[in-house]
Amino acid sequence: MDSGLRPDRPARSDRAFATLVTNADYALGAQALLRSIAWTGSTADRVVLHTGGVDGAALAPLSDLGARLIEVDLLPTSQAFNARHARDTLHAAAPFTKGGKPAFHTPLDNFAKLRLWQLTDYRAVVFIDADALVLRTIDKLFHYPEFCAAPNVYESLADFHRLNSGVFTARPDLATYEAMLARLDQPEAFWRRTDQTFLETWFPDWHGLPVTYNMLQYVWFNLPGLWNWDTIRVLHYQYEKPWQTDHAKADRLQPLIALWEQYLDGTAPPDLTAQTAPCASS
Ligand code: UDP
Ligand code: MN
Repeated sequence: MDSGLRPDRPARSDRAFATLVTNADYALGAQALLRSIAWTGSTADRVVLHTGGVDGAALAPLSDLGARLIEVDLLPTSQAFNARHARDTLHAAAPFTKGGKPAFHTPLDNFAKLRLWQLTDYRAVVFIDADALVLRTIDKLFHYPEFCAAPNVYESLADFHRLNSGVFTARPDLATYEAMLARLDQPEAFWRRTDQTFLETWFPDWHGLPVTYNMLQYVWFNLPGLWNWDTIRVLHYQYEKPWQTDHAKADRLQPLIALWEQYLDGTAPPDLTAQTAPCASS
């Protein structure tokens, strides 16, 4: 059977950081992410799962940064599943009340993250959203078990009950992949926060990482007491993206946007000891 995966070269390590890119916007995000990983000095492979519609010009900078490009099909989910998770239908059924999703975000595409479990040429994979930056080494996550993720903390203590699927550890395994697909696309199944809700359900006993492994940008203004530049390992621009020029929170997030731009620019690693602290008031 066709695996739905078309790699451009073999693996060069038994460990990989992986991200997902289904359009040119997220390719830009992946460019900054890949550079950030390179600047940590990691020797693990970097994998970009991309769909066929992303053109060569958007992918070329990712190759230049050393990524192994793997073209993937979206998951072979049913028409009914796809219709339930289409952007407008999902936004109507489960509105986003806390922040804005950019127009280029297609919820159905998120489920392609599950293809990580097909990457059996790796012993261990760490997935990172394309809208994130690795500020300090996180290679020790390759020794952590499946399934680790940080809590979805950006507003209140209640957020600790949920995971955020922007950073997680996986152990590729085809039997797991097949079982996940069977569970995913059951009649009437609706995953309101797509892969995140699915993974939380699949791994109810998920191992919690510290929030520093997936620091969400809204912590900057909602929970400034949690912000510590000395300990943040992954900075994740959830909701609005740093490359959107005109987003609703751009003024409040300006220092974080400027930092992201330094990674995209690639001239030199930023001085993390020279960053400003968040405002104490929200
Ligand atoms: N993604 C993608 N295309 C899409 C939607 C998502 O490539 O249309 C990938 C990309 O890696 C992205 C991740 O899936 O970072 C999750 O989406 P996003 O980061 O926008 O969600 P948020 O972190 O805001 O919840
Ligand atoms: Mn994200």
